[in-house]
Amino acid sequence: MDSYDVIIIGAGPAGLTAALYSARAKLRTLVLERAASGGQMTATDMIENYPGFPEGVSGAELAALMERQALRFGAERRSAAVLSLDLEGGLRIVRTDKGDLACRALIIASGATPRPLGCPGEAELRGRGVSYCAVCDAAFYEGCRVAVVGGGDAAVEEALYLTRFASEVLLIHRRDALRATKIVQERALAEPRLKILWDTVVEGIRGGDAVEAVDLKNLRTGQRSSEPVDGVFVYVGLSPSNAFCEALRAEDSGSYIRTDEHMRTRVPGVYAVGDVREKELRQVVTAAADGAIAATHAGKYVVEQCTENPQPLEKTMSALLEATKENFDAEVRSCGQPVLVDFWGPRCGPCLALLPVVEELAAGFAGRMKFCTVNSAENRRLAIDLKVMSLPSFLFFKGGQEVARLQGEFGRQEIVERIQAVLG
Ligand SMILES: Cc1cc2nc3c(=O)[nH]c(=O)nc-3n(C[C@H](O)[C@H](O)[C@H](O)COP(=O)(O)OP(=O)(O)OC[C@H]3O[C@@H](n4cnc5c(N)ncnc54)[C@H](O)[C@@H]3O)c2cc1C
Repeated sequence: MDSYDVIIIGAGPAGLTAALYSARAKLRTLVLERAASGGQMTATDMIENYPGFPEGVSGAELAALMERQALRFGAERRSAAVLSLDLEGGLRIVRTDKGDLACRALIIASGATPRPLGCPGEAELRGRGVSYCAVCDAAFYEGCRVAVVGGGDAAVEEALYLTRFASEVLLIHRRDALRATKIVQERALAEPRLKILWDTVVEGIRGGDAVEAVDLKNLRTGQRSSEPVDGVFVYVGLSPSNAFCEALRAEDSGSYIRTDEHMRTRVPGVYAVGDVREKELRQVVTAAADGAIAATHAGKYVVEQCTENPQPLEKTMSALLEATKENFDAEVRSCGQPVLVDFWGPRCGPCLALLPVVEELAAGFAGRMKFCTVNSAENRRLAIDLKVMSLPSFLFFKGGQEVARLQGEFGRQEIVERIQAVLG
């Protein structure tokens, strides 16, 4: 299994900035990306609000520049989709469609995707009048007529923002009352350039090279109509891209990952940055800032980990000690740490299947628990002395005494639970 000091999931602005800071701090850094680098930036023609580019910069160009800068300092990039995480031990295991990887610190920068309306024309006209970001694209609609779909805070606030540019903004909302907070609603109702179409849904978006009209239906009367518009801004929500780490999602915040101001999640050594985390303003500049903060703290975390456990990761990962009758007292009974002893046999299929699991857990719990294997075919006397009568048998020792045992049918889950119980 390849190992890194820091693995970053996602090569959007948050992940690429984290990679820049991490690699520049001389940490062995890997960025995993399932698609093109740049994330949502690549979905917009022009970014006009990222500092340093007074004439604006195309999303694709900014993405390429950010990637080049991170790679220049030694960050590696791999094309792989992250499927799941194993955060149990001291090491973080990242399972991808191209194999497993290990790291000391993990930065989740997998972003979010705007929830689409799902109506005909939406996908075809995306980037040609259909937009999911008014702060980004409003300036292209100076003097135009635009539609905003949604009724929550984001939709109403962005509709208000658009009135600074557009000649008229149609706010299309499926209900007869807005969900936005009172003060935002009051502002919207007082804004002469904002017209609200109540009880209305968008059935389709029409156009050729660009958006020309929206097809609407009034849910109350059933009446269908069409409104000519140059742009449609969709605010029916964002979905965080974090299905691979469900355990970290905060269900009470729309499943975004909750962090503190250092970008730390509730799991030590695991950080979340950018659009995937619970925050107010989801923009390139705030994603980049999150990445810088997380990488700085991840760097400190890695140094602390290396001080506690100075072995190179590869060595730590193969740190399974072979115990025998001769060294058992010294290595197991007199050990200052809890010890897991795996009694196995060369003809025992389940034992052999568990060996890679034990190796992985030994790496994960390095510094907290010692892992030993005993070949019971070569150490029969020791097995009999310890009343090991069936294989596989895992014995747990603490303070020289056996405190727990797993025998017969068990798997990774049971082993982890028993380790955690022994560690207390
Ligand atoms: C159309 C549009 C226009 C925009 N315009 C602007 C603008 O002008 N200015 C501005 O500041 N902001 C703009 N934004 C918002 C801005 O792009 C986002 O806030 C920003 O990109 C968030 O960055 P991020 O790195 O957190 O996530 P993302 O940009 O979403 O990047 C996340 C990356 O992680 C990858 N990923 C996700 N899951 C996995 C996985 N399981 N395995 C591997 N990789 C994974 C994704 O493929 C993606 O590349 C716009 C957004 C959109 C949609």
